[in-house]
Amino acid sequence: MKFDVITIFPEIFDFYFKHSIIKKAQEKGIIKIRVHNLRDWTLDKHKTADDKAFGGGRGMVVKVEPIFRSVSSLTKLKIKNEKLKTKKKKVKIVLFTPRGKKFNQKMATQLAKLDQLILICGRYEGVDERVAKYIADQTISIGDYVLMGGELPALVLIETVARLIPGVIGKSELLGERITKKKGFREYPQYTRPEIFEPKPGVKWKVPKVLLSGNHKKIEEWRKKRSKIIE
Ligand code: SAM
Repeated sequence: MKFDVITIFPEIFDFYFKHSIIKKAQEKGIIKIRVHNLRDWTLDKHKTADDKAFGGGRGMVVKVEPIFRSVSSLTKLKIKNEKLKTKKKKVKIVLFTPRGKKFNQKMATQLAKLDQLILICGRYEGVDERVAKYIADQTISIGDYVLMGGELPALVLIETVARLIPGVIGKSELLGERITKKKGFREYPQYTRPEIFEPKPGVKWKVPKVLLSGNHKKIEEWRKKRSKIIE
């Protein structure tokens, strides 16, 4: 699966994608992440990617033209009923905005089936609304709060989607049993050694006995009882 991130601040991603599981998944060729500088698709010598808002108001707005050019160079597109459409079925263009559809596990499961995700990160006072109206297939919010840019939402989405792709995390075949019928995720508490931890003499923080019992049926019952369904 390919992730193409469009941003004015590509450096933000440098560290993150070069570490841990995301790095290994790229090395194994399971996922491919490319981060593109929106300014590379501007045409003036100052590489202007934003401008003042029509109607006044504070702050700048990210321009539609460089976004159109960047998206057009990343996948084959056609224009149908005024709206941009990707020619390939399994490609989606996402714009991050706090006004978008709230991101959740079910959405991540659906996105993980695609071949390519083009992720547009906004900045400043937002993105020219024509991007949401004519270019993006989907607008996504990662929660009811306003961030300064779409870079963290892009990281959140990539990490959530990538870990659902077979082979990205170890024993990923076991993930299936934690996916719910509604395509959400079942999460339960985990413990590791030591069995008893003493933060100070006489105080004992213990691992629940059932997890040490070796009785898989009972362990599964305990996990079911303690699970939170993330949907
Ligand atoms: N007025 C803009 C709007 O309604 O979309 C929000 C501007 S916000 C300060 C700057 C950028 O951060 C947005 O364009 C968006 O890409 C990103 N952003 C901020 N909060 C977000 C959230 N909760 N979810 C997704 N993206 C967010």
